Amino acid sequence: MRGDSGSGETGRSPERAAAIERMDRHGIRPNRRLGQNFLMDASTADRIAALCPAGSEDLVIEIGPGMGALTLPLSRRAGQVLAVEIDRGLIPILREVLEDRTNVTVERADFLRFDLSGWLEPWRAEHPDAQIHVAANVPYYITTPILRHVFSSVTLPRSLVFLVQKEAAARLVAGPGSGAYGPLGASLGVFYILKTCFRVPPHAFLPQPGVDSAVVQAVLREDRETADGIPPEALLSMADAAFSHRRKRLANSLEASGWLEPDQKAALPGVLRRMGLDEKVRAEELSPEQYAVLYHGLTAGK
Ligand code: SAM
Repeated sequence: MRGDSGSGETGRSPERAAAIERMDRHGIRPNRRLGQNFLMDASTADRIAALCPAGSEDLVIEIGPGMGALTLPLSRRAGQVLAVEIDRGLIPILREVLEDRTNVTVERADFLRFDLSGWLEPWRAEHPDAQIHVAANVPYYITTPILRHVFSSVTLPRSLVFLVQKEAAARLVAGPGSGAYGPLGASLGVFYILKTCFRVPPHAFLPQPGVDSAVVQAVLREDRETADGIPPEALLSMADAAFSHRRKRLANSLEASGWLEPDQKAALPGVLRRMGLDEKVRAEELSPEQYAVLYHGLTAGK
C-alpha cells in the first residue's frame, strides 16, 4: 500500500460506509502486499474515468479493479471494459457492484501472467476498428511490468490513465534535467504526451495512504515519426538498461546491463557521435526523442 497511515477512519461518507459494509459482509480486509488502497470517492473516480477518451465502440483494459470504483464510470463511457483482478476474494464484490453492467468482463488473474493477446484476438476480430485504452490504479512497483505486458500484447494503446502515488507520477512525466527522469518517462515520452492531471488526497482511499496520489494521463502522439518501427517494450528495455547505473556513462550502463550485442557495442560510439552527443553522456541527459534516434541507430539493419 502507499505508505499507509492506518485506516484513518475519520468522517464516514455514505460511499465509505457502503464499502466497509460490503467488505465486512464478504470477509475482506485490504491486502497490503497487493497494494490495496481502494478509491472511495465516486466524484474522483468519475474525473479519472473522464480522462480516458474511450468511445462507445472502444475497449478499456482496467488493471486491478479492486471493488470496482473506477470500473463503474469506465463502463459508462466505453463499449467494453476488461477488468483483470488478482485477488480472488474481491471477485464476488466486483460481481455485486457491477451486477447491471453487461459490458464488463471480470477476469481473475495476475495481470502479468494474463494471456492478454489470447483474450484480445477474438475481440479484435469482432471489433476491427475499435480503440484500446488502459486504466489502472496499481502500486507503482508493477507499473513497468504492466506496461511491458500491455505493450507486448496491444502494441500501442490509444491512452493510458494511471493513478499512482505523487512521487511516482512525477517520475512518469519527468523530462531530461529532472532528478525524477527515468526509463518510463524516457520511453513513454516517445509515443505519448504525458501529463499529471490532478492530485488525489489520502482521504479519498480506504485505507488511507500516508502520501498524496496523482493521476497521470498519457495520450498517443499524432507526431510520433521518430518512434516509427520501434516496439515500445524494446525501447522500455533499452531505457531500463540505460538508467540501470545512473552515475555511469550511458555507454557503460548499456554495456554493463548486457543490453548491447557485440556489434551494437562497437557501433555505439559512432551512433552517439552522429547524434552530436559526447561519449561521456549520461542517461538522464537524453530526451525521449534522442532515445528513439539512439534505438534506430543501434538496431539499423537488424
Ligand atoms: N482500482 C481499484 C480502486 O481504484 O479502488 C483498486 C485499486 S488498489 C490500489 C490496486 C488493485 O490492484 C487491488 O485490487 C489489487 O488486488 C490489484 N492488483 C495488484 N496487483 C495486481 C496484479 N498483478 N494483477 C491484477 N491486479 C492486481
